[in-house]
Parts: sequence; structure tokens; C-alpha cells
Amino acid sequence: MDKIVILTGAGISAESGLGTFRGAGGLWENQRIEDVATPEGFARDPQMVIDFYNMRRGKHREVQPNAAHLALAHLQASYPGEVVIVTQNVDRLHERGGASAVIHMHGVLDALLCNACGHRWGWPFERRLDLATACPRCADAPTRPDVVWFGEMPYHMEEIEAHLTGCDLFVAIGTSGQVYPAAGFVRAADQAGADTLEINLEASAVRSDFARAIIGPASQTVPAWVDALLRHRV
Ligand code: NAD
Ligand code: ZN
Repeated sequence: MDKIVILTGAGISAESGLGTFRGAGGLWENQRIEDVATPEGFARDPQMVIDFYNMRRGKHREVQPNAAHLALAHLQASYPGEVVIVTQNVDRLHERGGASAVIHMHGVLDALLCNACGHRWGWPFERRLDLATACPRCADAPTRPDVVWFGEMPYHMEEIEAHLTGCDLFVAIGTSGQVYPAAGFVRAADQAGADTLEINLEASAVRSDFARAIIGPASQTVPAWVDALLRHRV
């Protein structure tokens, strides 16, 4: 049976009201990436980083999955083959839209990580994070969100590479193709003989690595693609 690997990026959650990374009104417009999304930034000014993540975590309570998240969950449940969702997003909108078995390669916003002992634990969106929030295992503080920052290795890479080399179709949705290693997934899938499709608002930086593309807002293009795939296997 066919296997589909789907990589999603910030663009799939844009219409839910979560800012993308670099676009107009993007998340980092008023913040320097080095200050809020690097281990060095956290070491220098943990309060600033914690404030930034409390702001992002707060937004998550107000947003809902959109038609693109729902369509992927429907595909996962209805497709006769295997559908693996790999996301760079740290939101929970795939799961909240009904998806199962999502691989979070950049971590999640609703968990914390202890810098001292490596312990990770859930931290629901309703709870605030502050400088005194300590690791339940070793009591180290402050603790950080369990998200992958610049300069850090994404999670689950071996598992993802195995999925890429074993897939028949690779689809990237709403990702700019500027952040590696995710931007290189299309090449790995292509070299393994898979068909490749990009779905984005505009052509990404790695558009030429894909066999084909569908251009438009994810809330419309993704449900239409899923419908066509389930009907005609395209
Ligand atoms: P990016 O912001 O670099 O790129 C977003 C891409 O989405 C762009 O190519 C843009 O054209 C496209 N896009 C924007 N609106 C769209 C829409 N309505 N429909 C379809 N496509 C749309 O994001 P990225 O490639 O995911 O990489 C950025 C990094 O930022 C990731 O590491 C991710 O962890 C992080 N991030 C996560 C979230 C989140 O969890 N929701 C939000 C912002 C950034
Ligand atoms: Zn600890």
C-alpha cells in the first residue's frame, strides 16, 4: 500500500491566526531571532525569552485548527495506505484537528525541557511559565520551552529519514524551504523515487526540487487536494 509523508510549516496554521515566521505581520517582526530562539539568548536573558513564549502560548488558547488541518486528519483516517505527518510547527493544531501520530520535529509549545538533566514534561497552555518554574526531577530553574531553537538538532531525525526513504509521495505544505534540515526532505524523498508535491501560498525557496506544486491558501488548496486524492488517487 502507498505511503505518503507530509511535512507542514507555519503556513498551514497562518489562517488559524498564528503568525508565520518571516512574512508580513510575522512572529519575529519585533524580536530578533537570536534573542528569543537560541540557547545563547535564553542564557543571556531568560525573562525575555519566557515573556515571548508566554505570549505565544497565550495565543494558542484563542485559535482553532482550520480546514487544512481537518483535511489532513481526514486523509490520515481514510487513506488506505499510510499517512505520516511531520510538522515543524510547535502548535497543537494537527492533533486538535483530529490527526494522530504527528511527528513534532521542532518540539511543542506545551511542554518544558530541563537544561540541566534533560527531563521533559507537559506544561498546559493555561499555565504561565516564569523564572521560578523548576524541573520536577532535579529542581533546576529556570526551565525552557521544549522547542528546538536555532543551532539545535531537530527531534526524531532518524525516524523521519526512514519515512522519507520509504515513501511513495512527499508533500510539503506551508513551509518556506529556508530552514534545514526540513528544506532538504524533498531531495531525500525524490532520490528514493517518490513523487513530490509542494502546496504553498507562493513558490518556496526549494520549489525547483519538487515535481509539481499547487499554489494558494492552505485552507482551500489542502481540502481540495485531499478530496481529489481520495477520489482519484492523484
Ligand atoms: P516560514 O514562516 O518560514 O514560512 C511560511 C511559509 O508558509 C511561506 O512559504 C509562506 O508562503 C507560506 N504560507 C503563508 N500563509 C500561507 C497559507 N495561508 N497557505 C499556505 N501557505 C502559506 O515557516 P516554516 O517554513 O515553517 O519555518 C519556520 C520555523 O518557524 C519553523 O521552524 C517553525 O518551528 C517555526 N514556527 C512555528 C509556528 C507554529 O507552530 N504555528 C509559527 C511560526 C513559526
Ligand atoms: Zn532537571
